[in-house]
Amino acid sequence: MVVAAKRARGRLDQLFVLGESPHACRPGLSDVEEHAFSLVERWMRSAGLEISYDAVGNLFARLLGRSRGSPEVWLGSHLDTVPGGGRFDGALGVVAALEVAERLRGNDLGRSVVAVAFRDEEGWRFGRSCFGSRALCGLLERGELDAADADGITVREALSRLGRSEPPSHGWLERRPAAFLELHVEQGPVLAQAGVPLGIVNSIVGISEFSLTFDGRAGHAGTNPMGRRADALSAAANLIVGLQQAAARTHGVATVGQLSVSPGTSNVIPSRVVLSADLRAAHANELRELEQCLLELAQEAATVTGCEAHVSRRWHSEPTRLSAPLIQRLSRAAEELELPWQELASGAGHDAGIIASAGVDTGMLFVPSLNGGASHVPEEDTDTLAIADALAALTLTVRRLANIDGDLETAVPNPGGKR
Ligand SMILES: [Zn+2]
Repeated sequence: MVVAAKRARGRLDQLFVLGESPHACRPGLSDVEEHAFSLVERWMRSAGLEISYDAVGNLFARLLGRSRGSPEVWLGSHLDTVPGGGRFDGALGVVAALEVAERLRGNDLGRSVVAVAFRDEEGWRFGRSCFGSRALCGLLERGELDAADADGITVREALSRLGRSEPPSHGWLERRPAAFLELHVEQGPVLAQAGVPLGIVNSIVGISEFSLTFDGRAGHAGTNPMGRRADALSAAANLIVGLQQAAARTHGVATVGQLSVSPGTSNVIPSRVVLSADLRAAHANELRELEQCLLELAQEAATVTGCEAHVSRRWHSEPTRLSAPLIQRLSRAAEELELPWQELASGAGHDAGIIASAGVDTGMLFVPSLNGGASHVPEEDTDTLAIADALAALTLTVRRLANIDGDLETAVPNPGGKR
């Protein structure tokens, strides 16, 4: 598997240098993303896989099994990146799917095995993540195709420039796969710190994004006594500190990443502050608790500073539990291969979360992120041996899934692994 992992790494290097940027920059539904899809398609074809695209340009590369009518086994990830991104985020899952299919070629498989590459998972260009997988599952929002990027190009125009068409609103997942598996870099420090090469993901966090506005009163910075101000930035500061402390008491996380101050002058008391809050938790009750905290803290911060608070929710996704039978299958494969593994939750959203929420049995594997968990930066890295381990666990699991009949739930013995 080390040879396969090295070949996968070589392919990731080739994808990394596509486009003008010195680092990975493959915006969703762009020419560079298209270029990456063409390159991957060429690799898939030369591996003998049967290629097809759906309406929005998600790529499916099939290794045909005996029973064409049986639900297929899918594995893959996305090929777009953030600007100034790394080699591994997304692309690792796609080149790994190709390696697994190459390994299984020549085996007598019941179900077809399909390597999948999704479009525009990162979502920064048009403002909504997981476009390709949501389009597939019929989970696009109303008006989403009219959303425009910074140059005024809409999703609809970007699709048509690539020769793709508008997705049907109900998606096209009528023939559900039996399972979907995604290999990804962890994008955090947990596995590397624990010295464990393989992570088995049990859930994908729920995310709530809020926009908050504090309205106070502008005034001269020198003539207004401290007790007679309505300082909107002071309200925001109270909220931010309170939110950090509240999140630290839960298993969730909270981030304020945007802040705009008006009028934004050094000698004027701020009259208005607009800020973002990104809340994430692996369990629905924890996420609701954080949301409740945010609302109470905003009100409290406004009251003590004499300001007004307005809070609106911009985005919400519920935490997604991944398939228990697939967690068992992946952990059993890791045990048999004598690979140390650890179960963990994903703090980032993934295509796997979308496919799972559409009712498909879904599993996810993580490899450690080196350099302190660096991700969405060129320093993103993982160990080639960890890729080899993940490929081994993935290949074993996919081979078995391709050869079981019937339901996943009933077809797996409990591995009794550590949880
Ligand atoms: Zn990703």
